[in-house]
Amino acid sequence: MKATLPELPYPYTALEPVIDARTVELHYSKHHQAYVDGYNAALDKLAAARASGDFSSVKHLKRELAFHGSGHALHSIYWRSMTPNPVPLADGRLKSAIEASFGNFETFEREFKTACTIVEASGWGILAVAPDGRLEIYTIEKHQDLVEIGFVPILACDVWEHSYYLSYQNRRADYVEWFFRMIDWTSVATSYEEVAA
Ligand code: MN
Repeated sequence: MKATLPELPYPYTALEPVIDARTVELHYSKHHQAYVDGYNAALDKLAAARASGDFSSVKHLKRELAFHGSGHALHSIYWRSMTPNPVPLADGRLKSAIEASFGNFETFEREFKTACTIVEASGWGILAVAPDGRLEIYTIEKHQDLVEIGFVPILACDVWEHSYYLSYQNRRADYVEWFFRMIDWTSVATSYEEVAA
């Protein structure tokens, strides 16, 4: 099945001044769209390779699927991870899981911000759910490197420069700080409930 660009849950201007409208527009309509297109193109080429029986390109195409498919999936989570009207994480299963996994919310916050800030070159900081319901933070390089199979991301902070460079230039830590204040904890808690059912 082909990937499609999900609807942005707010207008391009909604996250200003934390993330400027031009950045959101370019990021969503150009960058995210390119991952959707790249994924679909790789799917077509894979189908053609299978139809022809020539599997010489399969290794390359699987890399393309991993890169573009993971990029598409993480961007879809990224847009849902933020809200123009953030509220603190309410008591509930997600809060309990964060406290069980990291000790307390403050420790989680520090580790998550660190994970986002220390990514080498382009990547992500994510919060993900283990098969047993435990939570883990990952520093992802590109869209797909340094993660464990079986973990499902529920919160994602994009730290590719296209996410923040127009407003923050090289000050990634400032962008991460503001991203954290804009997290849609209601949405993240709903994702946790779905994954850790
Ligand atoms: Mn991005």
